[in-house]
Amino acid sequence: MYVRNKRRDCDEIGVYSREYALPEKTTQEELEKLIDELNADEKISGILVQLPLPSHLDEKAVINRINPKKDVDAFHPSNVGKIMIGDYDLLPCTPAGVMELIEEAGTKVEGKKCVVVGRSNIVGKPQAMLLLHKNGTVTICHSKTKNLAEECRSADILVAAVGRAKLITADMVKPGATVIDVGMNRDENGKLCGDVDFENVKEVAGAITPVPGGVGPMTRAVLMRNTVTTAKLK
Ligand code: NDP
Repeated sequence: MYVRNKRRDCDEIGVYSREYALPEKTTQEELEKLIDELNADEKISGILVQLPLPSHLDEKAVINRINPKKDVDAFHPSNVGKIMIGDYDLLPCTPAGVMELIEEAGTKVEGKKCVVVGRSNIVGKPQAMLLLHKNGTVTICHSKTKNLAEECRSADILVAAVGRAKLITADMVKPGATVIDVGMNRDENGKLCGDVDFENVKEVAGAITPVPGGVGPMTRAVLMRNTVTTAKLK
């Protein structure tokens, strides 16, 4: 679904795209050889490896192989380092999309108490860094956090990136808070849902994103923006 949507987005905005659907048994050498070819291919300005990879492949080595200037996901350590010091060309798509949503909601980050639930390298950590760059006061919560509810209740801006259906309930949200739901889960009926109990939290929050139709499409929009950026870098 992700890959199909991304290709559609490329078609819609006029970006040339190629898809390599490799067999599951593809070796590390074969995959890295393909990345080397794409790194050298003048026609290609952006490369995205759809994660997760099968367990026999070394994901870290694969990401490290991508030319950082073609790294539209901004997962390469050199791009991650640039984000850390606030001097970047490319931002990871989901956290950057979340920042757009916060801004569009009319919420100013500066001076606000921001709580990010989740500390993965692709969402939670870069999200916290982007909020910090905008002068938010940031707390990162994770599975070992004590008093998650209390931490969440202190947030003016709450970003949930966990992967647990309806973990964030209405009593965990400060009235008027901006709530961004990154999670993509299935509920007990197999329906797509986020980490936030949307129906109840929307009565408390000042602004809230739905799942589906919130962070997901914004992530894809930033991917397209990154692709244009890499073309310019080239
Ligand atoms: P990971 O599994 O890599 O990270 C999950 C994080 O949540 C971890 O830091 C973990 O803590 C923390 N966590 C787990 N359980 C709890 C808990 N009970 N209380 C507090 N924290 C907890 O997930 P990702 O960051 O990759 O993704 C998170 C969610 O976002 C998923 O549902 C994913 O599908 C979705 N997603 C959506 C995208 C979109 O475009 N809409 C893009 C990317 C992800 P610890 O580190 O201690 O284990």
